[in-house]
Amino acid sequence: MATIKCIGILTSGGDAPGMNAAIRAVTRAAIYNGLQVKGIYRGYKGLVTGEIKEFKSQDVSNIIQLGGTILKTARCKEFTIPEGRKQAYENMQKEGIDALVVIGGDGSLTGARILAQEFDIPCIGLPGTIDNDLYGTDTTIGYDTALNTILEAVDKIRDTATSHERLFFVEVMGRDAGFLALNGAIASGAEAAIIPEISTEVDQLEEFIKNGFRKSKNSSIVLVAESEITGGAMHYAERVKNEYPQYDVRVTILGHVQRGGSPTAHDRILASRLGTAAIEALMEDQRNVMIGIEHDEIVYVPFSKAIKNDKPIKRDLISVLKKLSI
Ligand code: ADP
Repeated sequence: MATIKCIGILTSGGDAPGMNAAIRAVTRAAIYNGLQVKGIYRGYKGLVTGEIKEFKSQDVSNIIQLGGTILKTARCKEFTIPEGRKQAYENMQKEGIDALVVIGGDGSLTGARILAQEFDIPCIGLPGTIDNDLYGTDTTIGYDTALNTILEAVDKIRDTATSHERLFFVEVMGRDAGFLALNGAIASGAEAAIIPEISTEVDQLEEFIKNGFRKSKNSSIVLVAESEITGGAMHYAERVKNEYPQYDVRVTILGHVQRGGSPTAHDRILASRLGTAAIEALMEDQRNVMIGIEHDEIVYVPFSKAIKNDKPIKRDLISVLKKLSI
């Protein structure tokens, strides 16, 4: 295999706090190992259009604390068709990029996997998503920061919920994964979480009401994972209005506030470790793997496994929440 001399780096899909810390880590670790680094702007879009710039060490100075991504991110339709990917490959050749580090969620890693297969390019993925829905890693870059943002918001909502003795449904992100909702509920002391993973098994609203809404409290907060499977917070508020009209119900949809903000120490350290490991993986001739973390150790997860889309929720957390919300 030809030695790698120049790597390209891009952030793609939904942004997540800590992506900048990852860009910094990949860039600095690559330069430390004598590699050239090129920053690709707007995800795969920049690869297709050739929006690419060399990154020196100082280009990533002062960004570890910033939310968002200095490389910008985008969704790129052209890249999902073979002609678009061919264009991307030609731009890589033109720029002398012989390996790619992609920071993003399952869509972005799917794109990397296909590009790697079609053109035999070493690609390394870093799990960058607040949803924590990538298989083979205990956590993802941005998840911890988003959880902390949820806590801050729920703490404030609790003040008004308690004063008015209301039932609040707070919708959090997570796509089809309930990690933010479930762990957000445990950490904020919420009464329940409605998550897609068990939506088809139990009627979570009925269970929550049956288990004693307001048994010992004058207000309740339920975190709902945004998802077509759960139906979202509005759906449950409507149900309560119809089925349990005695309750005074309100909805807060946290939305994109969860995507922003300065990354927590946890996310900065995670991004720094994973970014450094991405370059080590390339130096070891690894290709087409996502760098994950399991039991505090770096692991290489084949793309096919990482994007399987069925990362299981820890069932004991559901029982922790249930026991503590009496
Ligand atoms: P995320 O990475 O956060 O899951 P998306 O699912 O929007 O975000 O994916 C980001 C980008 O990855 C897409 O806009 C597209 O360019 C690329 N991508 C996603 N799925 C595929 C696919 N099946 N084939 C090729 N490229 C893809």
